Formats: sequence, structure tokens, C-alpha cells
Amino acid sequence: MMNDLKTCYLCGQDLDIDVNDDHVPPKQFHGSNLRKLFNLNLLTLATHTKCNKSYEKDEVYFLNSIGPLATDTQSGRAIWIDIAKQMKREQGIRIGEKIFKEFTQHHNGVYVPNSKVLKQYDRTRISRVIWKIVRGLFFEEFNRFLPEDTPWSFEILSEDEEPPKYSYYVLNSESKGRYPGIFDYKYVESDIGNLHMWGLLFWDKIITIVYFHDPNCDCEKCTRNM
Ligand SMILES: [Zn+2]
Ligand SMILES: [Zn+2]
Repeated sequence: MMNDLKTCYLCGQDLDIDVNDDHVPPKQFHGSNLRKLFNLNLLTLATHTKCNKSYEKDEVYFLNSIGPLATDTQSGRAIWIDIAKQMKREQGIRIGEKIFKEFTQHHNGVYVPNSKVLKQYDRTRISRVIWKIVRGLFFEEFNRFLPEDTPWSFEILSEDEEPPKYSYYVLNSESKGRYPGIFDYKYVESDIGNLHMWGLLFWDKIITIVYFHDPNCDCEKCTRNM
């Protein structure tokens, strides 16, 4: 399927001369040694540079906050090497201190099975990155713009628990990722076509389920604010 190269998938506006190739998911989510070793052919979408840039810090945060939960997989170890290198630089040290404080035994967050420790995260920043990825993949799959303000929700599945029953619809569907061991995604639409359920798998470890109604949905909930 061809993308409409004239539209920025982030803002829905026409592209002008300020065009940037945005990696979906972010390039640095693929560890640099894997990128070198396998000469990865990553998915990119054209965006305005300023649209893409506005996510940069949150993407770094996502990598540093969620990435260390996947050090027991090959692709997770690859990004850990990058994170460790980055930590030695001044900016990296600051990020590292912030992330370190997020490991706690008292709060809700992502459960780390072996250490029995919970990892907190800044839900706003994490959700911003997840939604950007889904909107990019939606644009790629359906060749349609998915507005940022579309109501949506997500959950990060805990590894020590059985995934909720409804999530099997998406978890058992066709794998769509180019390099599923690094990043994979799947999606299903409900019969009536208005509910989308997406599954994202980061570093063969962290499963996120995303729900939203199709941007064309005319159900009561979606049309209430029109
Ligand atoms: Zn834009
Ligand atoms: Zn709806």
C-alpha cells in the first residue's frame, strides 16, 4: 500500500519543504549493534521536522525507562548497551538518576518478574510515544490519518499474569513487524469496524495493548464532542 506522501501523519497537514524521515518505531529502539550487524531496513514516514522533533525527548525517556526491563532478550540487551554508553555522558547521568528513582517496591507500575520489583513510569510521556507509534503504523496500514485527539487507551501487560482474555484476539493475530524480535505489532478490528485493538511488542518482552475507535466512527461516544 502506498502512503500519501503529501500528508504528515503526525499533524495531518500537507508536507512542505520542512520534511523529515521519521522512524516508526524510533530508530534508537533498535540497538545500534543490531542495526550495524543486520543492516536493518526500518520503516520511515515523512513528517514535518518540527512535528517529529517534539517527540524526541519523550522517545529517549521511553527507551531509558522501559528498555531496562528487557535486558534478558537479545534485542533488549542491544539497547541496554546503548543506554549504558549514554549514561556515561552528562545528560545520560541525569536521565539515569531519574529512572533509578522510578524503581520502587511500593507503587503501581510495570512488574519486573525476577527481582519482584515494580517499575514506575511517567504515564503521560510513555503514552505519548505509544500513541505516536500506533498513529504511524495506522497511517502505514490504512493510508489514513489518525488524529492525535482520537480517544484511546492502553495498558502494559504484566509478565507474571495471564493476559486478559480479550487481548487474545489481537495477540493471536498476524504478526506485522519487520523485525518481530525487536519490535512487533498486530491489530484487529471489530466486526462493525469501529473498534481497533492493537498489540505492540517491544524487545520481545513488553506487551502493550492499545484500544481506540476508528476516526470515522459515528457512535454516540465519538460524536458527543462534535
Ligand atoms: Zn506535521
Ligand atoms: Zn466510536
